[in-house]
Amino acid sequence: MNDESMPSIYEIFDYWKDEKIKEIEIVEDYYYPRCWACDKEIKHNEKSEDLKIIWNSVKCRLNRCHIIAKSLNGNNDVSNLFLLCENCHAQSPDTKDKSAFMLWVYLKRKTYSLGFNFFAIQDEIKTLIEILNIDLDEMERILKKRNEKLKDILKNDEMTRHCGSISSSSVIYLVMIKIKKMIDDDKGIF
Ligand SMILES: [Zn+2]
Repeated sequence: MNDESMPSIYEIFDYWKDEKIKEIEIVEDYYYPRCWACDKEIKHNEKSEDLKIIWNSVKCRLNRCHIIAKSLNGNNDVSNLFLLCENCHAQSPDTKDKSAFMLWVYLKRKTYSLGFNFFAIQDEIKTLIEILNIDLDEMERILKKRNEKLKDILKNDEMTRHCGSISSSSVIYLVMIKIKKMIDDDKGIF
């Protein structure tokens, strides 16, 4: 990846910035770099408004990924490079077919937001509710009643970042366990 002949992150951004895959804009906000597949935020501390400075500042955390695999004669043109987080880079297709790559990106963008797979999370939450034996009506009642407390869960010091970001499992498991506890505590009062 340190190949001198590779275009910079900014050059790749500049090429793709107004492109779409079907209805999906590849770059939604020029000033906030994200993974172009899973939509994970790539934080930067640049105060500058200069897009070149902003995009090039995240080069350690956004990988320059070949659309047609390099080992299958994919070149280093900006048109064959795409900006992905490290996880997505590892998962992306390595083929000779550009449309396989783009279809993969499209599906990622349809199912992921901010780096989380919301479809998978839905199933995970449903299963957790079953395992923890949480009554849905009780849960709704508690959530309405203790909304503020739930927000505190996400702010408190009971979870930490892993490789720079909070994992979806930290949020889901902590929140669900807290909800279960709130329901039990509430039952204890009455
Ligand atoms: Zn990603």
